[in-house]
Amino acid sequence: MSEQNALLARLTSNLHGLELRIQDACQRSDRQRESVQLVAVTKSVPLATIAALVQCGPALLGENRPQQLVERARVLQMEKDSGNRPPVQWHLIGQLQRNKIRSVLPWTSLIHSVESPSQLQQIGRIAGELSLRPRVLVQVNVSGEESKSGFSPASVREAWEGLTQIGNVDLAGLMTMAPLTDDQAVIRDSFRGLRELRDELQLRTPHIPLQELSMGMSHDFEIAIEEGATFIRVGSLLFEGCEE
Ligand SMILES: *Cc1c(COP(=O)(O)O)cnc(C)c1O
Repeated sequence: MSEQNALLARLTSNLHGLELRIQDACQRSDRQRESVQLVAVTKSVPLATIAALVQCGPALLGENRPQQLVERARVLQMEKDSGNRPPVQWHLIGQLQRNKIRSVLPWTSLIHSVESPSQLQQIGRIAGELSLRPRVLVQVNVSGEESKSGFSPASVREAWEGLTQIGNVDLAGLMTMAPLTDDQAVIRDSFRGLRELRDELQLRTPHIPLQELSMGMSHDFEIAIEEGATFIRVGSLLFEGCEE
């Protein structure tokens, strides 16, 4: 088998395994498969592996560094324009520094990781200048871990009405990362906490549909689906065995 074929075979098999687990989790929690979207997190693999992945189906890609997102999106866009690739969408899932907003906005269809009111103000202002209207999620540190960025539940409650009044962005829901632990109950609590917070905020601003919950990664996506995730962000599991 050629190297390229081996890579495609591996990705196909990883995707199939992941798909079965997603379907099981949906069934267990009485959800439609279509209600959960896979964001393939490509931050730690080379462009050639991403290109192979896209051949296998996934069309929603996530990067945590704005600059890397833009570089990769540009290349795949050029290849698409020359007829060699299916279209993809890019989501930004990591920190967005002020000086990166302008360059990343044209390339991303959803920002998962808004972490302060002033940052959302900036995104809205620059989006207005560029005649764009990005969808955004507010990142919430449900578990209160010191090391995690994002709003605390208290600070998002306090800032909420202000956030909803910022122009040129569509607030679409919330995102969280579970605490670093093997304790499934703790992980589940944080995902459930995010869903309950979303429900509470939705009641306060019923005119803004907050349908999205971005939660769950390679080691906890099934719990996230059971607790209502609409986006799961999976990297390492998807690319297992693709390093050689
Ligand atoms: C890297 C990353 C992921 C994917 O993590 P895996 O454990 O590799 O699946 C998901 N979300 C964010 C914000 C990340 O930075």
